[in-house]
Amino acid sequence: MTSSAHLNPSLQSFGTGLSGTVIRRGDAGYDQARRVWNGMIDRSPAAIFRCSSTADVVAAVNFAREEGLALAVRGGGHNAAGLALVDDGLVIDLSGMRGVRVDADKRVAYVQGGTLWRDLDAATHAHGLATTGGLISSTGVGGLTLGGGLGWLMRQHGLACDNVLAVEIVTADGQVRRASATENPDLFWAVRGGGGNFGVVTSFEFRLHPMRTLYAGMLVFPGPQAPQVLRRYREVAESAPDELTVFAAMMTSPDGQPIIAIFPAYNGPVNKAEAAVKPFRDLGPVADQVQEMPYPALQSMLDDGFPSGLHVYWRSDFLKGLPHEALDTLVDRFQAITSPLSALLIEQFGGAVARVSADETAFAQRDAMFNLAIVSRWMEPANPSIHTDWARQTSAAIRPFASGGVYVNYLGEEGADRVKAAYGPKYEKLVAVKKKYDPKNLFRVNQNIQP
Ligand SMILES: Cc1cc2nc3c(=O)[nH]c(=O)nc-3n(C[C@H](O)[C@H](O)[C@H](O)COP(=O)(O)OP(=O)(O)OC[C@H]3O[C@@H](n4cnc5c(N)ncnc54)[C@H](O)[C@@H]3O)c2cc1C
Repeated sequence: MTSSAHLNPSLQSFGTGLSGTVIRRGDAGYDQARRVWNGMIDRSPAAIFRCSSTADVVAAVNFAREEGLALAVRGGGHNAAGLALVDDGLVIDLSGMRGVRVDADKRVAYVQGGTLWRDLDAATHAHGLATTGGLISSTGVGGLTLGGGLGWLMRQHGLACDNVLAVEIVTADGQVRRASATENPDLFWAVRGGGGNFGVVTSFEFRLHPMRTLYAGMLVFPGPQAPQVLRRYREVAESAPDELTVFAAMMTSPDGQPIIAIFPAYNGPVNKAEAAVKPFRDLGPVADQVQEMPYPALQSMLDDGFPSGLHVYWRSDFLKGLPHEALDTLVDRFQAITSPLSALLIEQFGGAVARVSADETAFAQRDAMFNLAIVSRWMEPANPSIHTDWARQTSAAIRPFASGGVYVNYLGEEGADRVKAAYGPKYEKLVAVKKKYDPKNLFRVNQNIQP
């Protein structure tokens, strides 16, 4: 279906009197508006409503519920499984709601639901403040935070969701609610890890921390050195202070050579940072770009490596640890990549993430020390299966070392068991909160908690 003639008749008039813009199938700009970060996603909503206020969001939620339309919510559009879009339904597009206000005295940021990390980081940096956010500046604050939110500051300050003080949320009944430790605390618990299941978050309040620069960047080693570098990575990561977060990636250099890159980020005095990075420097990197840098520079350092529009299939698994056998498996699997754009990324957890009590939030994976992201990417739309197979086979090969948990924000369409694995022991309580706030499952285009 490509024309607006097939639209639900009520959709033709939806938007009248509202401040946002409705882009219907067939309108100019429709194809641009339905594009998301993953170029493999080709969904065709009946209409996309670019909201500009909470009142717009309320109107759209009420309209979708009353008309029985499938509803999706778009924050930054980065979800690799395309959860920002739904075929033939209505998309609440929050990209026009990106306002950020910082109260520097209180160290709190008030952040609209469609804000991108680059908006938030720029606004807080102006006051010498920051909070934990994603590694790529064009990712949405909304989706990332609601699923947990890992980033360079998490081992010191917790996940993005651990820094949320309150949200304003439009629930399935069209009510605008506040959720915080003292208002609707069950909802507040659920939105910190339970994804977009409970409504549309129109604004977040984030706790901020003093922050200007970090000692961070990239050290590059030739691919054949991977076994040695990965062993050093494990040693450093396992004994790292909270100030140090370090990720490792096996990938292909722009000139086509396999490489292993180490990404340390140290938030503290430079002399201590240099000591923390020395074990890697001692291995003789062929490139060393680790230096003191402003936080927003770190937050956009990897942007060029993650452009939108490539075809992407993403798998991930939390790992119990990194024994030799696991590292050797990763080296073998990287040698089998089917595209030079594909990568294996190890993300270090622990620190403040693990110290938040198990009952505090709905985020379920606090015990994991490492997360493995298997990122399969390619340019050609033809024959995606060789690339998706590589990712699946890599996930299967690493399974003996996996914790059984998976990060909800990295989950694709992997079936109900994997969704339950993502919410882990929190699932039953999440179902109870879902039944209370969204009993008919209006918000189901997500890693769904079925009421
Ligand atoms: C290049 C790239 C880098 C990434 N880096 C990180 C990282 O560093 N750390 C990390 O933790 N994750 C990271 N991710 C994963 C990321 O957290 C998820 O893809 C997340 O879903 C993106 O949020 P979004 O708002 O951009 O996505 P969208 O695709 O817009 O939305 C994703 C889901 O969140 C829901 N949602 C979004 N906003 C709202 C809202 N305001 N209210 C209610 N529901 C909402 C949507 O309905 C949808 O179900 C990355 C992803 C990509 C593609």
